[in-house]
Amino acid sequence: MYVKIERGFCVSCGACWNTCPEIFDQNPCDEYSELVEAYRFCGSRAEGAVPEDLAACAREAAYLCPAEVITVGEEGAE
Ligand code: SF4
Repeated sequence: MYVKIERGFCVSCGACWNTCPEIFDQNPCDEYSELVEAYRFCGSRAEGAVPEDLAACAREAAYLCPAEVITVGEEGAE
């Protein structure tokens, strides 16, 4: 499943990485959310694809994000 974080608008609340640490993490430098390394597209911290067994977790994080900066969907749909 495709996942994208508009990192510049992240408010570092922690909801995504607390809900779904398999996918999201806090970047130690800018403190914004980022994708864990395993699921990044070409090293992108903001965009990647996660396995289907993590799709529900990704959707939950997107739902909970107060800044609405997490997009999930079919791979490459956006
Ligand atoms: S839930 Fe949204 S605002 Fe909160 S840390 Fe994650 S991406 Fe940032």
